[in-house]
Amino acid sequence: MKNKLKRFATSFLPVAENRRGECIRCGECCKLPYPCPFLRYDEQGLSSCAVYRFRPPSCRKYPRTADENVTPATCGFYFVPLTELIPAKEPI
Ligand code: SF4
Repeated sequence: MKNKLKRFATSFLPVAENRRGECIRCGECCKLPYPCPFLRYDEQGLSSCAVYRFRPPSCRKYPRTADENVTPATCGFYFVPLTELIPAKEPI
């Protein structure tokens, strides 16, 4: 529940620029801390949201940062080290 409150409070902040990957519809983030009543699964076991167009920012942006990613084992998103985002210096 603590993590859910944190994600709600920070959901209006931008997604970290070091996030990579994409949602692979595992549905694990829709069970935090209990299964969302709008969570659905198709016959292939892929998740979807019954109110997708109207989902809250905390769902739209999950996982917003590496610290807020509590489903790293299954989530299709991942975070590269921030040092990889620093452009190489031009030779003088
Ligand atoms: S945990 Fe990641 S891959 Fe799984 S449904 Fe949520 S955003 Fe998509």
